Amino acid sequence: MEKYYAGIDIGGQGLKGIVLDQAGILRIEAMRSTPAGEGRDAVLRIVADLVKELSSLGPLSSMGVGSPGGVDRAGVVVGMAANISGWAGTGLGEAVAAMAGAPCVVRNDANLAAYAEWVARSDSSWALLFIGLGTGIGGGFVEDGRILGGCNDRAVEIGHSVIEPGGRRCACGVAGCAEAYASGPSMGRIAADLALGRDAGLGSLEPRGLGESLEGSALAARARAGEQLNAHDVYAAYARGDSLAKLVDSIAAAALARAAAIGMALLAPDTLVLGGGVIEGAPHLCSRVQELLPKLVYHDGWKDCRVEKARFSHKAGLYGAAFYGASQVEDPEGLAALATKALACFASP
Ligand SMILES: [Zn+2]
Repeated sequence: MEKYYAGIDIGGQGLKGIVLDQAGILRIEAMRSTPAGEGRDAVLRIVADLVKELSSLGPLSSMGVGSPGGVDRAGVVVGMAANISGWAGTGLGEAVAAMAGAPCVVRNDANLAAYAEWVARSDSSWALLFIGLGTGIGGGFVEDGRILGGCNDRAVEIGHSVIEPGGRRCACGVAGCAEAYASGPSMGRIAADLALGRDAGLGSLEPRGLGESLEGSALAARARAGEQLNAHDVYAAYARGDSLAKLVDSIAAAALARAAAIGMALLAPDTLVLGGGVIEGAPHLCSRVQELLPKLVYHDGWKDCRVEKARFSHKAGLYGAAFYGASQVEDPEGLAALATKALACFASP
């Protein structure tokens, strides 16, 4: 009988699901919008609908689920997450296992993204640090196939490393987190602050020649016209050589490198993977961070670490959910073969 490995990624905006068969071929990819404002039961009804679609080829062998925020070891959501009202306390693991009729594991979404990237490199990486840049900055660490989870799977929240004390206010309430400088929305806000002459809270991240950099910038003109900008706008302007976009890019790269250096001092990865939607538009951030690390990492720890772009792009969390679920029922060799094939299919257009 054919085996099917399912993965679900729960986000504040969308619920995504995939099914891989035992050859690693993507058989189903499905999406639903998250009724975040309607509360837990409404979201669980959509999850059930998604699981039904994922089960349409036949019984599922395994299920992995990625959820933002904290998850305890029984698969219960802990603390605030995904802007879904009433989401904390949801027994997600048990609920989805019952829907799927298959064993289900639930982990923090960024930890699963790290897992996908490690599995795809299991022949070349022992210890992998993942940093995902999107609407926030998530992180995860996998050593020899084991996710470092910490308490309630909240380890490696590297976006909330304070890299500029007293700096920009982060969404978490703390001032100076890396996320306040290098997430997609933060880059747009920094561009607007600089264009409008507001205090951007850059502190020691402030580049030289700030005033001259704004002259002739189309991005600055858009900010002054009241447009709400994000990293996508910044990198579209960057590609055209916009001076303000270059400035915002250099601030984000410096912030990211500081956060990465903290991760390297704590975890000594041999591979640092940058992922998330922002990196898709700015792959040069990998080489920029690699260039900045020697000044930030103790001794020559940086020499042992290569910086790479995520192989599963912005879908690393989704594939990680499927792989992690499969890891509960397959041996490491079978899992590596599954990931190799899935990656080959993923890379092809
Ligand atoms: Zn923060």
